[in-house]
Amino acid sequence: MLNADPIIAKMKNQKINYDRVLKKLIHQWEREGLRPKILLHSCCAPCSTYTLEYLTEYADVAIYFANPNIHPKNEYLRRAKVQEQFVKDFNKKTGKQVKYIEAEYKPHEFMKMAKSRGLTEEPEGGLRCTACFEMRLELVAEAAVKYGYDYFGSALTLSPKKNAQLINELGMEVQHLYDVNYLPSDFKKNKGYERSIEMCNDYHIFRQCYCGCVFAAMAQGIDFKQINQEAKDFLQQF
Ligand code: SF4
Ligand code: SF4
Repeated sequence: MLNADPIIAKMKNQKINYDRVLKKLIHQWEREGLRPKILLHSCCAPCSTYTLEYLTEYADVAIYFANPNIHPKNEYLRRAKVQEQFVKDFNKKTGKQVKYIEAEYKPHEFMKMAKSRGLTEEPEGGLRCTACFEMRLELVAEAAVKYGYDYFGSALTLSPKKNAQLINELGMEVQHLYDVNYLPSDFKKNKGYERSIEMCNDYHIFRQCYCGCVFAAMAQGIDFKQINQEAKDFLQQF
């Protein structure tokens, strides 16, 4: 399957526009009559909305929910459930056949990584987030190899709060550690973020109030008792 490295190599000495890279890649798929299989990482439903609407025009996509960073467990379960439900509703509404795959929840691995690397006090957007993106990109790359996907990618480039340049640079590096191609993206472009807000309203999607890890949540003053209770109440309906 086609790799984005040659496209990026031609953009040397300029800030890489990863949306343009993806468009060039899609153009190549179309020219060669390809419909690739993509495993896309997501950490809750909002970033996957427009992303699925866009990508499923050109590829067969599965969402991979692998987020050992999310704390507490009930909140993890709530975000996973909302993500799974969105995939079901999206398929029903559009006739698409997006798959949903959930990894085992292993929060100790994230905690071990953050503590052993001295990243617990980092501010949101700092080095802990870089390590967190990298960890989850590696999880999705590994799963993409295991399940036979052509590409792995991240829906997080849709979020204006996330550093899409960094996520793409990490993805382009991670692909060389695994036998699978990284899918570059900047899904917030082309009014992707605005469209995701519309879709969240249409599908009645819950929006989380903190990124996910205990460290950023504490810095933000999140009330874990309240989060736990809300998540438990939500989960009771299933
Ligand atoms: S980046 Fe934020 S909004 Fe987007 S999927 Fe992750 S937690 Fe949800
Ligand atoms: S703030 Fe979000 S991206 Fe950063 S380490 Fe925590 S969960 Fe990961």
